[in-house]
Amino acid sequence: MYDMIIRAGRQGDGQLVDIAIKEGKLAAIGQLPKSAVARETLELAGRIHVSAGWIDGHTHCYPASPIYHDEPDKVGVESGVTTVIDAGSTGADDVDDFQRIAAGCKTRVHALLNLSRIGLLRQNELADSRDLDMDLASAAIRRHPEFIVGIKARMSGSVVGENGLQPLRMAKVLQQTHGQLPLMVHVGNTPPELDEIVTLLGDGDLLTHCFNGKPNRILTPAGELRVAVREAMQRGLLLDIGHGGASFSFEVAELAIAQGILPHTISSDIYCKNRIKGPVYSLAHVMSKFLAIGMTLEQVLACVTCHAADAMRLTGKGRLEVGADADLTLFEVASGPTLFMDTEAQSRSGDQQLLPLAALVGGELVLTHNGKSHHAFCL
Ligand SMILES: [Zn+2]
Repeated sequence: MYDMIIRAGRQGDGQLVDIAIKEGKLAAIGQLPKSAVARETLELAGRIHVSAGWIDGHTHCYPASPIYHDEPDKVGVESGVTTVIDAGSTGADDVDDFQRIAAGCKTRVHALLNLSRIGLLRQNELADSRDLDMDLASAAIRRHPEFIVGIKARMSGSVVGENGLQPLRMAKVLQQTHGQLPLMVHVGNTPPELDEIVTLLGDGDLLTHCFNGKPNRILTPAGELRVAVREAMQRGLLLDIGHGGASFSFEVAELAIAQGILPHTISSDIYCKNRIKGPVYSLAHVMSKFLAIGMTLEQVLACVTCHAADAMRLTGKGRLEVGADADLTLFEVASGPTLFMDTEAQSRSGDQQLLPLAALVGGELVLTHNGKSHHAFCL
């Protein structure tokens, strides 16, 4: 007797799958016999897609943050996302408060600790050296070994001020002190130059805003991948989207993808303002943009499941495997013309949109706004 059976869900590759859940874990995957019984059965009839639960590796969802804030469940389960990672909204001063709030959410919430003790209290959190306290950051990481999954350093001129590359060097030391934790590095306005930043990066590091359209883009003026970025990628640097309100260019994305440079992870950099007013809206909407520029559904799903789980070292996540957490996203691939905008006032038209209907976290079903009116769930 299972807790739940999901029948005939369509996967990214088009194949159908049955999934059985017991005690919050995936108990069986494949074709289940008709005789298999459960307390609850969801019949997806091949019309609804299922994947491992979506992971958004770059969000801002500390509700008390003064600048970039949101509710974890709004950007999480209510948007079909089972795990959200807040990218540096909190530092050592506020991470305890954030952890308490996160523990009461339906969504699985983790944090990348801001190197600055003040987090995103100000836009220039790495400009005052007195806020860069390695002992406080280390103690916070030790206090929250589950909640804090990595470190965030925002390396743009407006954030670091006169400190240049020094905060990044400190973040690398902190990373190495704590077992090579994932380090997400934001690139924005110069200085520092992208070449200088990526020279310090390699294994365990993610470059977020990787397809930004600013001068600090990953491509040369001729449209080729910068040598320093290529070398960093050969050392293990991963490319993360981090769309946000100012950091995604269709032109850069298309030029990169045409050269075989795909994003490793697709993340939203969502918070209440760019969720409500766009151009982000949701992780699903950002994923749909990549369908519009030629990535396959399978590739896009990998970016928010297995790739994201591996990059953030989340065990039991990101794959449909027996014994994994029963974190799933149920969604439709709606067809019809849609206009997508980037952050450079450029648009692309697409004919597919991902519409999340439900998220399951540890086997607990939460319907999205679309899911609440969907016939499959109105039994
Ligand atoms: Zn961000």
